[in-house]
Amino acid sequence: MPELPEVETTRRGLEPLIVNRQIKSVHIYQNRLRWEIPSHLCDTLKNQAIKKISRRAKYLLIDFKLGQLVMHLGMSGSISVVPTSEPLKKHHHFELKLDNSMSMRFHDPRRFGSILWQRNNKQLNLLKNLGPEPLSYEFNDSSLYRASRGKKKNIKAFIMDSNIVVGVGNIYASESLFLAGISPKREAGKISRNRYQFLTQCIKKILADAINNGGTTLNDFSNVDGEPGYFAQVLSVYGRNNMPCNRCDGTIKRIIQNQRATYYCSKCQR
Ligand SMILES: [Zn+2]
Repeated sequence: MPELPEVETTRRGLEPLIVNRQIKSVHIYQNRLRWEIPSHLCDTLKNQAIKKISRRAKYLLIDFKLGQLVMHLGMSGSISVVPTSEPLKKHHHFELKLDNSMSMRFHDPRRFGSILWQRNNKQLNLLKNLGPEPLSYEFNDSSLYRASRGKKKNIKAFIMDSNIVVGVGNIYASESLFLAGISPKREAGKISRNRYQFLTQCIKKILADAINNGGTTLNDFSNVDGEPGYFAQVLSVYGRNNMPCNRCDGTIKRIIQNQRATYYCSKCQR
């Protein structure tokens, strides 16, 4: 499943290929994604120029004069830019034909992704109430510490809550807690200020490293159709059940928390 680093990698890959290009035509081949793709996009976006591509949480935001295209990759979505002459594949649901004989295509076998539209100054509900970006200044140890007071949930569920901070998915939550040496079972409200200070740095480092690793897969981005760079991470705990800890002589354990798999070392994570 694409996590924040993959989405940011996708954004960086798309940016030089689509910004300042004009849309020749819009094609919706399958409108039933997580939500229906608005059919007015075919008219709304025709002959419009792409001004900018940004990211908020795991949403890609493509700016036009009249508003923003809001795209989410869901479970299996990917976006590529290929020559318009290249044949479509079965799971290509949406295509923007650009003014340079290239096309931006959305591919999504499981169709949990979404393509929505928001007019200027009319933010979609799903973008409201999102917590700060993990790599921004707004996400810092004092805000995280303050938000944690009185919280009874475990620390892993707490940092995965998108009202607290966006983009810390299941893999990155386990990895960040390992790096910080904090047990995923610990109650969020009972962790000290000092430990939150370190955890904040660990979350930023894990995500920044993942994004930087992703950057190395970008070279042939425009040639990749359908499967751009979901990169294999170097993981310390995630998926390493029963394997030796790479920091102490303990063994990595797998437990289920809030219906999700958690991997941790019970010896060096306290
Ligand atoms: Zn260990």
